Amino acid sequence: MKLITEGNIKPYYVQMLVMLWYPGEKFAEDDDGKRYLEVKVSENSIALSCRIDEGEGSLTLPLEAGDTSELAVGRGMYKLFGSLTGFYPEWGIMTGVRPAKIPSAVLKAGGSRSDAAARMRERYLVKEDKADMAAGIAELELSIINTLPENSCSIYLSIPFCPTRCEYCSFVSYSTPRLLSLIPAYLEKLVSDLEALTDSIIRAKKKISTVYIGGGTPTILDAAQLDFLLDAVNRCLDRAGREHLREFTLEGGRPDTITEEKLAAACRGGITRISVNPQTTNNDVLQGIGRSHKYEDFLRSYDIAAKSGIKYINCDLIAGLPGDSPESFMKSVSDVASLGPANITIHTFAVKKSAAILERNPGIYSRGGGELSHSVSDSRIYLAGLGYNPYYIYRQKNTAGALENIGYAKVGAEGLYNIFIMEEVHDIFAVGAGAVTKLVRHGKDGEEYIERLFSPKYPYEYLEKEKFDIKKITDAVDVFYSKD
Ligand code: SF4
Repeated sequence: MKLITEGNIKPYYVQMLVMLWYPGEKFAEDDDGKRYLEVKVSENSIALSCRIDEGEGSLTLPLEAGDTSELAVGRGMYKLFGSLTGFYPEWGIMTGVRPAKIPSAVLKAGGSRSDAAARMRERYLVKEDKADMAAGIAELELSIINTLPENSCSIYLSIPFCPTRCEYCSFVSYSTPRLLSLIPAYLEKLVSDLEALTDSIIRAKKKISTVYIGGGTPTILDAAQLDFLLDAVNRCLDRAGREHLREFTLEGGRPDTITEEKLAAACRGGITRISVNPQTTNNDVLQGIGRSHKYEDFLRSYDIAAKSGIKYINCDLIAGLPGDSPESFMKSVSDVASLGPANITIHTFAVKKSAAILERNPGIYSRGGGELSHSVSDSRIYLAGLGYNPYYIYRQKNTAGALENIGYAKVGAEGLYNIFIMEEVHDIFAVGAGAVTKLVRHGKDGEEYIERLFSPKYPYEYLEKEKFDIKKITDAVDVFYSKD
């Protein structure tokens, strides 16, 4: 689509809006003039005109008092694209990945849960049940966030390696034998960087609340490697203080990597929460997406996790996988729920540009998500009946139906790190390839300032001294805190 913008509006924001109707849309300077969108923002009004697959149209809206140009353009698009396509996104004109931030701001300012939901409906045109759910999540999250001590933080360690590559994956995760041979050197560097970052944490007088080892697939490490890594984390906790630690997560992920020996190492190392992710319990669908495990493997690894002594188990499922049906998805939900894990996370299938699956299935994006929207709602109702409450939420770009990912938990079993990272409440000190350290400052003006410090994306770059030295991060942390 050709996009023309004029005035005070960012083209990127308009592209995000267009993708609510056309997931995966590409924007070109010259699209033969067949499909275009023109957005003009002036001091008092916004004007839109377009020609899209479904027809052409235009409208002009006045800028109302208190309106930003983004909100006005969003509302204009909702009206114009909605009337031409007949599709009105359930999340209205919200393009951000953290939908609970808006109700959360209302609650923090003293508003009620219903005020928070009303803000989402009225300003962002979010449908009623989504607005109510997001407001409820924001309320639960705030009740947990309010229990954090002053100066809290979390630690993230990245293990970007997987046994094989899932077809829908667009993460940087190494899975070939040659690249997997980097693991020992990678772990050495990770541990040494964690030690350096621990010095910064101590200098900044931070209190560690949660530790999260994520991937990739961290349980690709063997038991000895897990011992090595967890010992390093425990040394860090001993030095920086462990009295505020409330959660220590190992993202197991792929059932085919979980063994009794590894989870015994995890338990010895103090892990309190683990993910065992079937994604679906339908073996045909699993085969189609390139996962090398079967439902039976998931049951075996779940059993190992349940007997390991690790307190909380999370299971991820994905709605809308290629080849899946609403009935088969709901069977996956009930199969997993029948095991009674503390957390169940329901993702909505998202295809990124690089994924091989997109090349073979270009029609995989479907506006509105078709039956997917019902699957997501049905799973929410079903899980609520079993005592699972939605406790965190995020959205991804290019998700069918512009839908959401929701973490569900039994009361008191919420995954704390997920809340803290999603709501950006405190510093996350992150080490490893692709890791992003986030430093959060809450200004006196009530504004939130976040500084992001990036490590190299690819493990081979991370391992090259000339390309990356942790000192870059630790120096930046020290400078950040010297401003206090
Ligand atoms: S397990 Fe996750 S990170 Fe690894 S290949 Fe599959 S989707 Fe990608």
